[in-house]
Amino acid sequence: MISSQRLEDRINSLARIGMTEEGGVTRLALTDEDRKAHQLVRSWMEQAGMSVRVDAAGNLIGRKEGTNPQARPVVMGSHIDSVGNGGKFDGTIGVIGGIEVVQHIAEENISITRPVEVIAFCEEEGSRFQSGGIFGSRAMTGKITPADLEIRDANGISRRQALADFGLNPDELFTKAIRRKGEMALYLEMHIEQGPVLEQKGIPVGIVTGITGLSLTEIIVEGKPNHVGATPMGMRHDALLGACEIATGIEEICLSYGSPAVGTVGTMEVFPGQVNIVPGRVVMTTDVRDLDVERRESILQRIRNHAESVAGRRGLTVSFDTKLKANPALCSQEIIEVMKRESERMSLSYLEMPSGAGHDAQLMAELADMGMIFVRSTGGSHNPREYASMEDITLGTELLSRVALHYLNAEEV
Ligand SMILES: [Zn+2]
Repeated sequence: MISSQRLEDRINSLARIGMTEEGGVTRLALTDEDRKAHQLVRSWMEQAGMSVRVDAAGNLIGRKEGTNPQARPVVMGSHIDSVGNGGKFDGTIGVIGGIEVVQHIAEENISITRPVEVIAFCEEEGSRFQSGGIFGSRAMTGKITPADLEIRDANGISRRQALADFGLNPDELFTKAIRRKGEMALYLEMHIEQGPVLEQKGIPVGIVTGITGLSLTEIIVEGKPNHVGATPMGMRHDALLGACEIATGIEEICLSYGSPAVGTVGTMEVFPGQVNIVPGRVVMTTDVRDLDVERRESILQRIRNHAESVAGRRGLTVSFDTKLKANPALCSQEIIEVMKRESERMSLSYLEMPSGAGHDAQLMAELADMGMIFVRSTGGSHNPREYASMEDITLGTELLSRVALHYLNAEEV
């Protein structure tokens, strides 16, 4: 049986490591708190009958063998690092849920053919070294460069140093931490939704169809700074008004494409930024995401055309600087079908939905077929009010268990 009580006890004891005054969690990667969390999670993995190691990238990996040692493993995972003053469910339920599945297998003496692994990935959040996160999963896919190791935290400690202080050999990260494509049978991750959709629809779990690919573009609008009293309204080239029109256009364009397209202007800097000067320059960042690369690129092109027409009409100039582009990762259709079938057997209502947030699963999809389960959450995420009920977490873990067991005894994957 999946033990709801044990899941709850473990979520709460992990939350006590790095707990903040507001009841949130600050547990940054490769810190003393992270070390304590590793010790605790390692002890649970061992209780579930797994042998445990930490790879050179700081990923904590538990493994239990099946009857066929040559078979490729079924891998479950997520992360146990947090943002500053974050919530206690983000990441942790995927790791604790994965361990619960293995403990269930051990306690019920269920025979499995394939090995099973549970991974707590290093620095998914990227809150300590501020370099985009998903560090451990990027290391597994061979995407870390030596420059990534020289990035420093707020105290001037390099990642290389932090890994060494954690008892690891950072140079082995480029060889020993890498997993080959096809080496894993598949990868499963359970995570809180972090958005309002499941709550609003009154559905406990989501079956994820894919993780949207984000793009980050800086848009620079140039006008003419001028005296606010002496420049008549009809003779201005106000960069801020142009930027605002571009921003509302981005909303309209994304709405017209429909879900899962989302576009956000998250920052806008106004220059010279003085009360008595017509704004001459605005730098704004736009985050655009969709599950389909072609759709995302076509949205970006529409935004460009729109911005240029606004600029033309207002006598401004506009330029674009692409800062980041990540490809979307689709979940395996076959895993989705198994998840749907098992949900129906549990009489569990589910919603098929995309993930707008990035996860380690996005990287693992490059190595193996990938599937994700979302658990309904409230209170937003990355804050102490983040919440998921034990009922929903238990249902999600039950589903995770059924899907993992299906594949653990499947001949072909
Ligand atoms: Zn997370």
